[in-house]
Formats: sequence, C-alpha cells, structure tokens
Amino acid sequence: MKDDGCIFCKIANGEIPSATVFEDEDFRVILDLGPASKGHALILPKQHFKDLCEAECSTMAKILPLAGRVGQGMKKELGASGFNVVQNNGVSAGQTVFHLHVHVIPRYDGGPVIVGWTPGAATAEELAETAEMIKKGMQEL
Ligand code: AMP
Ligand code: ZN
Repeated sequence: MKDDGCIFCKIANGEIPSATVFEDEDFRVILDLGPASKGHALILPKQHFKDLCEAECSTMAKILPLAGRVGQGMKKELGASGFNVVQNNGVSAGQTVFHLHVHVIPRYDGGPVIVGWTPGAATAEELAETAEMIKKGMQEL
C-alpha cells in the first residue's frame, strides 16, 4: 500500500530519483540528503507504514539483516570502522518523515559522537516497577 502524499513512498517506488544503494521487491536503500556522516543511508520499505507500530512482521524481519549488509558494505568500501542502526518512532523520538525508515550511519575512527545519551540513574525498585508497566502494555498487543 502507498500513500500518495508521502515523499518516501515516491522515492521507494522510484517516482522520485535518489542515490540508491540497494533495491529489491520490498525495499529501496538510499543515501540521506542530510548525512550525519559520509554514506548515511536510509532503508525504506516500498509499502507505506507510518512507523514500527504499524509495520508488518514479515517486513520488519527483513530489515535488520539488510541493515547489517549495508553496514558491512560501508565498512568494506568507505573505510568505516563501525555503524549505528537508528530508527525513530514519533515526533518526541525525532521522527520527521512519517514513512517507516531505518538509518544506517557509518562511523569513522576519531569522528564525532552521532548517537548518544547521558546515562541516568534508577533504583532496582524503579526498574522493577517500570518493567511491570511495559510488560502489561505489551500483553494487549
Ligand atoms: P527521521 O528524523 O528519522 O524521520 O529521518 C528523516 C531523514 O530523512 C532525515 O535524516 C532527513 O535528512 C532525510 N530526508 C528527508 N527528505 C529526504 C529526501 N528527499 N531524500 C533523502 N533523505 C531525506
Ligand atoms: Zn510512504
């Protein structure tokens, strides 16, 4: 299914040209227009899903293996020494394009921190209580 107003639907399905790294029947992998580092790629499913919550399991199951292949290609040919796999869901998480996509961001020795956070603190009781809440939320799915 496609969404006529969605730019990533148009790119994934070849209606808008892109720097394409890989294509098969399910996905197109393109280079990000605003790369966090040289080679920053986006895995776009050809089907429109708003985010991970909407996506079909059969599609999602293929994404991580593909991300691994893209990352290995970056290590082999771009001289990257590692890569981050990042996927944003919702405005608060930084999602700006509401067509499911996965970032594969090559990392280079001595390069800047691209994906990071400041570790917080939590007691064992807080962790246990929070774990129970998430567990409950997952039960209805
Ligand atoms: P997110 O913030 O996770 O929704 O990521 C959206 C990403 O898409 C950003 O990194 C943008 O730079 C990138 N982006 C937006 N429009 C295009 C486009 N037309 N072609 C390639 N990348 C794009
Ligand atoms: Zn779309």
